[in-house]
Amino acid sequence: MAEGISRVAVLGSTGSIGRSALEVIAAHPTRLRCVGLAARCSTAELESQAKQAKPQWIFVADDQAARQHSWAGLPTETRQLAGDEALERAVQANDVDIVLSAIVGSAGLRSTWAALEAGKTVALANKETLVVAGRLAMDLARDRGATILPVDSEHSAIFQAMQAGRRSEICRVILTASGGPFRNHSREQLEQATVAEAMAHPHWSMGRKITIDSATMMNKALELIEACWLFDLDEAQIEVVVHPQSIVHSMVEFVDGSVVAQLSPPDMKLPIQYALTYPDRLPGVAATMDWSQRHRLDFEPVNVERFPAIDLAREVARRGGTAGAVLNAANEAAVAGFLSGELRFTDIVPSCRAIVEQHHFEPSPSLDRLIELDRWARKEMARWVCT
Ligand code: NAD
Ligand code: MG
Repeated sequence: MAEGISRVAVLGSTGSIGRSALEVIAAHPTRLRCVGLAARCSTAELESQAKQAKPQWIFVADDQAARQHSWAGLPTETRQLAGDEALERAVQANDVDIVLSAIVGSAGLRSTWAALEAGKTVALANKETLVVAGRLAMDLARDRGATILPVDSEHSAIFQAMQAGRRSEICRVILTASGGPFRNHSREQLEQATVAEAMAHPHWSMGRKITIDSATMMNKALELIEACWLFDLDEAQIEVVVHPQSIVHSMVEFVDGSVVAQLSPPDMKLPIQYALTYPDRLPGVAATMDWSQRHRLDFEPVNVERFPAIDLAREVARRGGTAGAVLNAANEAAVAGFLSGELRFTDIVPSCRAIVEQHHFEPSPSLDRLIELDRWARKEMARWVCT
């Protein structure tokens, strides 16, 4: 490795997290270098990212989209990879130090897995990997000496706050949630929720899937499961609290009653940078708090009747085994159904619950079994979406 430089593969580079990561990398040329870019089908954007970052490789998951693009502007030093195995090999190569896992959904599982297998440092945005296969992924990381650093803002906050005490002194974690665009909607209003309304998140500009997840609070549900795996916590040690200003990104309460929080304006560039430069802190790319202004920080309980995803996640976290994979796949398919106008907003979480409850539960599944159940749950959801 070049002295002091971390070589980063950015998986999901054309997405909201990927673009922010490239800004962070470009701002710290003496510390970070981009060596690879992967995306699904946004070929023009990928090519223009490659022109700027001059990576050694790029990968387009959609073969047809890759073939239809001319790639005339690709830098001469950048080669194009074809096939999932080629991406996995590139991620595992010696010239990659950090893999930023920011592909959306369980599509990000294989490449994240490959990175863990090779003992890489994984800057993890793709929470779905831990929801689907938390036990196996954490075991793999431990066995291969891989490090998982959280990118999700809440988990980055928890990770930072935890450094204020010893592991044995932590009594609980307070996971904050903005409450999304429907925080104050009545049950009747939620039934009429449209895609445009659900896409209008009050603070964060994110990809489509996570934006809908924020509206149903399934995002917080998935984050609760993610936190259990990342920090080895029971779901009962995690409190979910609505904090509409999205400035306190989460908190850790220690046994003496001290609560340590991490605050910053809502901008993913900060947690991305912390994961890419950990344990160092570098001058930030993101805006900082303006303390000359008046700020209010409100905290309120989650209304679990209007937002049943949190209780569902608690049950799934308690069960473990195959439950997370089924919940995640059902939710991905339900979100797609809602976005295409074929599933009502208020049917997303109940349909996920029904599919989790009806699946054939196994306590210690293999990765192949989890992938099979992922497919099964998507098919089951198709029945809800079509009816
Ligand atoms: P996004 O939809 O904006 O971007 C997704 C990226 O993944 C795109 O680059 C897309 O091309 C790529 N992709 C999709 N399928 C692929 C495949 N099969 N192979 C290769 N690339 C593929 O999503 P996002 O909002 O950037 O979120 C990415 C991940 O980060 C999600 O897991 C999300 O939960 C997590 N996350 C996002 C935010 C945020 O602020 N956006 C915050 C915390 C965590
Ligand atoms: Mg988050």
